Amino acid sequence: MHNSKYGKRIRELVEASLLKKNERYECPKCGKRSVKRVSNALWECRSCGARIAGGAYLLATDIGQTARRVLAGGEAGE
Ligand SMILES: [Zn+2]
Repeated sequence: MHNSKYGKRIRELVEASLLKKNERYECPKCGKRSVKRVSNALWECRSCGARIAGGAYLLATDIGQTARRVLAGGEAGE
């Protein structure tokens, strides 16, 4: 169990860097930086009203590809 401390520290660092609660992100629909996280897995664009379901830090990591998939209505699939 000597690795538990190390693993916890890495996890904290990752979460701290990804979960910026008040950060805004570019909307895949209208292109404005108005997308905010409204709940754990739901993002909303304040400009055009687009709603994007995703992970807690989905938009922070890969707004381009993943959000487009979500908006298209399909599952990510294989
Ligand atoms: Zn928008």
